[in-house]
Amino acid sequence: ADAEPGIPVHVKSNKLADVLYDIRGPVLKEAKRLEEEGTRVIQLNTGNPAPFGFEAPDELIHDVMYNLRNAQGYCDSKGLFSARKAIMQYYQTRGVPHADLENIYMGNGVSELIVMTMQGLINDGDEVLIPSPDYPLWTAAVNLSGGKAVHYICDESSEWNPDLEDMKSKISSRTKAVVVINPNNPTGAVYPREILEKIHAMAAEHDLIVFADEIYDKIVYDGHEHVTMASICDDILCITFNGLSKSYRAAGFRSGWMLLSGRLSHARDYQEGLDILASMRLCANVPAQYAVQASLGGYQSIADLTAEGGRLEQQRSIAYEMVNSIPGLSVVKPKGALYLFPRVDQKRFNIQNDQKMILDLLLEKKILLVQGTGFNWSEPDHFRMVFLPEKDELRHVCTEMKDFFSWYRQ
Ligand code: PLP
Repeated sequence: ADAEPGIPVHVKSNKLADVLYDIRGPVLKEAKRLEEEGTRVIQLNTGNPAPFGFEAPDELIHDVMYNLRNAQGYCDSKGLFSARKAIMQYYQTRGVPHADLENIYMGNGVSELIVMTMQGLINDGDEVLIPSPDYPLWTAAVNLSGGKAVHYICDESSEWNPDLEDMKSKISSRTKAVVVINPNNPTGAVYPREILEKIHAMAAEHDLIVFADEIYDKIVYDGHEHVTMASICDDILCITFNGLSKSYRAAGFRSGWMLLSGRLSHARDYQEGLDILASMRLCANVPAQYAVQASLGGYQSIADLTAEGGRLEQQRSIAYEMVNSIPGLSVVKPKGALYLFPRVDQKRFNIQNDQKMILDLLLEKKILLVQGTGFNWSEPDHFRMVFLPEKDELRHVCTEMKDFFSWYRQ
């Protein structure tokens, strides 16, 4: 039958009721509209290195090209042997006990594996501790699985480290797991070993799984040490996520992996579930898996970019200095990853709706950022900006932002 105009006929599943992903949300639609009109928009909304000239290492591209003919068929649902072997060796050198081949799964990016691990674990009403602010896919994946994302606070006044008291207070009888994003998106925090040890102790006491999202593990500045959570979690189940998108600048290849380590004897049932889910999508994109061995075993050019004077490090410093000097904005210097997460002074700006702030900035200055509430931050007083553009463009962006925030009020 004909429906009334405006009344939807085909309605989305109510499983999507609490699922949000604002990094590619409504403001992006407006940015696309502007671009269709011929206006250039500076897109600082996604951590997508290649379009900013951060190209993947040549050896990685060569290996994919060389092996393309071999990559026509499906592979094992856990992934190619050569890729998983390289991953196994990588984590063995990083001090992870029991980093074994059969516990490594390749995915179409870490994104697919995040959704898979939540689908395989969560029953209705189960809770997962997730940082606030977070990389929002974690919250979305828990909600999509019928679970409840319970946010623990990361403390801006303590270099955005997790507030362990807050984390502890939020553990309930329904809590299944805790997510640790380190180095962190969006805050740029890199957690000290003592904090990771305390999270491990809490997880061990309450039988929680630790999901360690370490996709930025090689993007650290100023000589900060990145400690792999799995190297600490030898007596509990830890699942580590990593991939080619950031350190190896091949986000479009959609290749990531996860490693189950620690107390696997307690996780046989869950792992059976993950095996089912991995088989259901047959396997991950095969050509990209040929890049993994060359990536992990090759020259680590990312270190040149993050070292003092390297392109990424310089851009981080410029963005940090310039944003911090804008009256009413303040930002913690990122120790890792690709982002700033500045605070806007509410006494000055009185922001009620940070999505509107980001939309107004887009319309006025043709600069696209993401509002802090898009990262499950509860107050409308932050935003995220990537520092991937070249220095001159970053200076231009910061100058334009300075002008915008000199008059903008809500
Ligand atoms: N985890 C974090 C913390 C991220 O920032 C991102 C991408 O920005 C992902 C996971 C997803 O990465 P992938 O490209 O491997 O799906």
